Amino acid sequence: MKKVYAVGIGPGGREFFTDEAAAAINNADVIAGYTVYVDLVKDFFPGKETYTTSMKQEIERCRWAIETACQGKTVAMVCSGDAGIYGMAGLLMELAAQYEDVEIQVVSGVTAANSGAAVLGAPIGHDFCLISLSDLLTPWELIEKRLRCAAEADFAICLYNPKSKKRSDYLAKSCAILMEHKSPDTICGWVRNIGREGQEYNIVKLSELAEEPVDMFTTVFIGSATTKVINGRMVTPRGYEKHEDSYFRGND
Ligand code: SAH
Repeated sequence: MKKVYAVGIGPGGREFFTDEAAAAINNADVIAGYTVYVDLVKDFFPGKETYTTSMKQEIERCRWAIETACQGKTVAMVCSGDAGIYGMAGLLMELAAQYEDVEIQVVSGVTAANSGAAVLGAPIGHDFCLISLSDLLTPWELIEKRLRCAAEADFAICLYNPKSKKRSDYLAKSCAILMEHKSPDTICGWVRNIGREGQEYNIVKLSELAEEPVDMFTTVFIGSATTKVINGRMVTPRGYEKHEDSYFRGND
């Protein structure tokens, strides 16, 4: 069977990398992906052939992987976090449909929302959504609409791709939209370089978020109306306290 693995490698460090991901890469003849991600994993698989492309060459990279699989080599396409969350898994499946008998096997990874949440505390402990602020593939009007609806529905929100050099004001614009429905005092957090060298984070109010040093290596967490800070951690309660008074009084 011609096979391409779409492998999520987690946010960075080896400790986030699952055994399933390691098995897929061991099983593959070639590791393919964006240079930064291939560099993160290639040392764990010495001698394994690699194929790297720059960030914006996703279609070319996926087509190469499928055509290489057609020639009889198994390819592991590595993506940061999870391969199906703003990753290559979907594109691989769309392109593979144009070829005969190429199987795309997805290997799930720890996405930035999970690994970043753990750094901050429990910010996505209740209903939440992910929104990418990148308008490379999504019209900005639709991103604005999703921000507005998510704020109105009081989801906790994880923002991926919150800022880049070209889009330096997108986070500020998003904060202004969120504040149409959310209090400026809403608890927010951000984590930069999750699981990598230089990991840092901060917890601030929504009114302060736009001024924080957020960049494309950062994931931003916007709390819901119930999100609070407990001992320096960002927590979105599930609501146990409403139903289990005795639990919180310590009678259980
Ligand atoms: N597939 C990835 C997301 C790719 S989109 C995943 O599941 O995590 C790229 C965005 O993801 C970045 O702009 C950032 O917002 C977030 N991200 C990915 N890895 C990160 C890391 N190690 N630290 C902080 N944010 C990260």
